[in-house]
Amino acid sequence: MIDSHAHLTSSELYQEVDAIVDRASSLEHIVNICTDLESLIKGIELKKRYPFIYNTCSTTPHDVKAGVVTREQLLPYKNDLVAIGETGLDYYYEHSPKEDQKRVFVEYLLLAKEWNLPVVIHCREAFNDLYDLMDQYFQGQKAVLHCFTGTLDEAKEGIKRGYFVSMSGIVTFKKSVDLQQVAKWLPLESMLIETDSPYLAPLPYRGQRNEPAFIQATCQFIADLKGLSFDEVANKTAENTKKLFALKS
Ligand SMILES: [Zn+2]
Repeated sequence: MIDSHAHLTSSELYQEVDAIVDRASSLEHIVNICTDLESLIKGIELKKRYPFIYNTCSTTPHDVKAGVVTREQLLPYKNDLVAIGETGLDYYYEHSPKEDQKRVFVEYLLLAKEWNLPVVIHCREAFNDLYDLMDQYFQGQKAVLHCFTGTLDEAKEGIKRGYFVSMSGIVTFKKSVDLQQVAKWLPLESMLIETDSPYLAPLPYRGQRNEPAFIQATCQFIADLKGLSFDEVANKTAENTKKLFALKS
């Protein structure tokens, strides 16, 4: 089983990161999402201690207003990255102006294409613009729609383009009826699972600080939802994650 999206180098988790990684020692890999240069440098240090951890980096759509991790800054770490992200568009919170989000997203798409890396996509209430830009600048490249909370049609549009769709702990929440329908429909071949820790702990941990070890609760929920075994969901989503990020087994 793999946690395809965790923020181990966020301030919430990093202070206890060794204990947190220790509790997740049954996982095959953790993909650590770095959101600035400082967290990436920590992530690279972490990988030296725990080779089963892999790193990605980009500024999130929330933060682009305040400044962006550039190509030049990432260049020395190019070989340490398994993806560019999380990047994308967030029109729900709109912490940064839409035009800034779009401009930076395109820059990251072009960088990922140049470096032949997949992208980790964050998208909320912006799928029309997102798919337009990806069709224009990123056609035929690999991506995951992380922490997916869109509609069934938006998921289908992603699958049509060959993208993976990742389910977080949100799918376990009682009110997530529509998302559960998406998860039920979503072919296992296109699914990833993630914690997005420290946020969004799945039931029965809801309200607690999330951590990679809790991924098993989301995996079990999806297995029950789809009438599959825990191992089927754990193994297939792990295989998908390794394929997407070209992780060594
Ligand atoms: Zn995230």
